[in-house]
Amino acid sequence: MNVYDSDRMEDLMTAIGYETTDTPEGADMVIINTCHIREKASEKLFSDLGRIRPHKNKMKEQGGEMIVAVAGCVAQAEGEEIFRRSNVVDIIVGPESYQTLPDLVGKVIREKKKQINLEFTPNEKFDLLAESKAGTGASAFVTVQEGCDKFCTFCVVPYTRGAEYSREVSKIFDDARRLADRGVKEIYFLGQNVNAYHGIDEKGQATSLAKLIEKTAEIPEIERIRYTTSHPRDMADDLLFAHRDIKKLMPFLHLPIQSGSNNVLKGMNRKHTRQDYFKIIEKLRAARPDIGLSSDFIVGFPGETDKDFADTMDLVRQIGFTQCYSFKYSPRPGTPAAEAKIQVEEKIKTERLAELQKLLTEQQIDFNKKSEGEVMPVLFEKEAPNSGKAKAHKSTQLWGKSPWLQSVIVDVSSEDEAKKFLGKIAEVKILKARPSSLVGEIRQI
Ligand code: SF4
Repeated sequence: MNVYDSDRMEDLMTAIGYETTDTPEGADMVIINTCHIREKASEKLFSDLGRIRPHKNKMKEQGGEMIVAVAGCVAQAEGEEIFRRSNVVDIIVGPESYQTLPDLVGKVIREKKKQINLEFTPNEKFDLLAESKAGTGASAFVTVQEGCDKFCTFCVVPYTRGAEYSREVSKIFDDARRLADRGVKEIYFLGQNVNAYHGIDEKGQATSLAKLIEKTAEIPEIERIRYTTSHPRDMADDLLFAHRDIKKLMPFLHLPIQSGSNNVLKGMNRKHTRQDYFKIIEKLRAARPDIGLSSDFIVGFPGETDKDFADTMDLVRQIGFTQCYSFKYSPRPGTPAAEAKIQVEEKIKTERLAELQKLLTEQQIDFNKKSEGEVMPVLFEKEAPNSGKAKAHKSTQLWGKSPWLQSVIVDVSSEDEAKKFLGKIAEVKILKARPSSLVGEIRQI
């Protein structure tokens, strides 16, 4: 979602004459879009601001002005404190009010005064962003829902992004239509709790995410639909069955569980059990047997015992994931878990994380290995990051995504040939599986 927000900020600023640059040196404006999920997020912000300072000073010496804005969830959480700790900052703007960035910049220039806006105005935000130039590639994000009412005890999102808010169906559909007209083939519906989506349709009725996907699938140019991030409590049957009935909905689900222990899930206030999770996966696999599964895990949550961790390992073994994100618990200021008395020792957290990641990596490699020899549709989005090396051998490499969200790399003979495939879906035979990508050759478009 931060990538999406950063792109929208870029749209807003380019609309008033700014253009992007790769370096803060000589920049008229620097926006630091922060994420509070990161460990030591505010310390990282202040060290980034320390690095910006010499550039800002140099601009001033040369008679120019650099405006520095801090956006995102750290801005929301820390507020005015950021001004107190760093006089480099001119603007503080929250994740639900960044549509006002051009206004704030105008005020800084005209009034020579620092500006702050931390209001929660998602409705206004999306209306103002509706005409953004986002999504000129093959795949685009569309935010359908923001905020969270779940209050997991380790998480800052409900405090920084506010209450759950769902956009109206017609507005999302208009965005999808516009993106399709620009050549987008894959839509990624985004939300902190995307499957809690309940936007109003043209009849004033609340609409589920499954229905929204069904409607979007009617746009002929949209060939793939994905959504993230889901919560097990909101995994309704119609969404499970959508994976069976809507061919454009990709066979992949990121469904965070965080822990395989009921004790830990209770401490986290997740309001679901490991048994609930098993039931969802069972139904999902019955509906769509080839579904790929991903999840998030936190190890070393306060009070997590060896038995609790063993339950997590057991759940991972029983389910079998295709790729996952896993982290050591680290306290987020202001959240209930940060105050818990029984924190797990760092050394134990490190050992548990290594054990879990070893298993998850084995599962990912196994899953990728099963693709060897298969032919699958791949959506090509860009040249591969190391395509320069390939060019030295007079070829070009393209990077694309399989239906299961695996990265797929193929060689093409020239840049002209690359252009033929970019932004399109082609059948690819997988020749080799690597731990985090597949290497293949194009068979046909
Ligand atoms: S459901 Fe997700 S976003 Fe909401 S509080 Fe829990 S972890 Fe945070």
